[in-house]
Amino acid sequence: MIANYHTHTRWCHHAQGEIEDYIREAIARGLQAIAITEHVPHTANFDPRRMQWEEFPAFNAELDALIAQYAGQIRVIKGMECEFYPFSLDNYRMFREQYGYRLLILGHHTSKDRSVDNFAPKGRRELQLYADEVVEGLSTGLFTFLAHPDVALSGYGQTDAFALEQMGRIFACCQELHIPVEINANGFRDGRRYPDRQVWELSRQYDLTYLINSDAHLVEHLCDQAGVGGTEAFARELGIPVTGWFDW
Ligand SMILES: [Zn+2]
Ligand SMILES: [Zn+2]
Repeated sequence: MIANYHTHTRWCHHAQGEIEDYIREAIARGLQAIAITEHVPHTANFDPRRMQWEEFPAFNAELDALIAQYAGQIRVIKGMECEFYPFSLDNYRMFREQYGYRLLILGHHTSKDRSVDNFAPKGRRELQLYADEVVEGLSTGLFTFLAHPDVALSGYGQTDAFALEQMGRIFACCQELHIPVEINANGFRDGRRYPDRQVWELSRQYDLTYLINSDAHLVEHLCDQAGVGGTEAFARELGIPVTGWFDW
């Protein structure tokens, strides 16, 4: 790994470590770029396990200061991981245009009306809704890449033909719009339902750009063997060509 484009810090209230700890670990591990991609804050503060809206100015000031401090040692990119919430898109644009958060990742953890948690038990209706909304979200052109496309298999229980059909719709969209897809090491590290082998085998039928991200929530996970190393091995086994560097 020479760059990691998906990193959390203690600012999201469910990860540990300061921003600077992750930057220093990245330098120590020889990374040439790291994107700090905190879960995007919302005016409504839906979730205590996310950065709160009022915390953003302090977070942003700290990140800007660290970018200046470590310039010349590592490229630190400002990013955010976002659900496709139509009511928040103006704020996403504001973060990008006024504050320089140019790497907006689509990580669709909750449906756009917040009625479905995509980690929760679900049936076909919820899985199809996830695929519909991911396709709709990517079509806005706001998002640079798609995090963990297969996150919604959590709670679905099987990788049946219906699940593969929905994942295929997502991959077809990514192919058409030239949006890279992430194989997520945090899912691999935690033994979650993703990355799903059949889904990633299916992905080979499409012309896709792939990246592996740590999605670290602990500093020692940034470049860990169990997570990142395991995911790299997983991609190699499936013959997936992984792109390590993007000019973001
Ligand atoms: Zn995520
Ligand atoms: Zn994440």
